[in-house]
Amino acid sequence: MKVETKYDLGQTVHKIWFTQKEYFNKCVTCDGEGWIPTHSEPVKCEKCNSFYGAPYPGRIRGLYPKAWHVDCALTVGQVKTESDADGMVAKYMCSETGIGSGTVHSENTLFATKDEANTECDKRNSGV
Ligand SMILES: [Zn+2]
Repeated sequence: MKVETKYDLGQTVHKIWFTQKEYFNKCVTCDGEGWIPTHSEPVKCEKCNSFYGAPYPGRIRGLYPKAWHVDCALTVGQVKTESDADGMVAKYMCSETGIGSGTVHSENTLFATKDEANTECDKRNSGV
């Protein structure tokens, strides 16, 4: 049985994700320095730099609410079809996320252009 798939091997596609994006605010406690000046040695800011190897001294990490976002462009490296309750569905593996083992992408999260991917994210995020 021949199944038509939307994307071909080697084609560039744009992945969308339902995820929380992170953001960073400058730490107000230390004014973004990561250290607090004292009359002797500066001390590490307790808000943003309180443990050894704190990844973002001077910045406070936050997360936006979950929403659809366009991720990076991917290159289709493998196309597989399987049958499920909706009939035959195409599953894709991409060079950037692993072929053979790695992330399996559903056809409904991949788009041919970034514009199409953005439009779909807006649509899904607005709840339409
Ligand atoms: Zn701080």
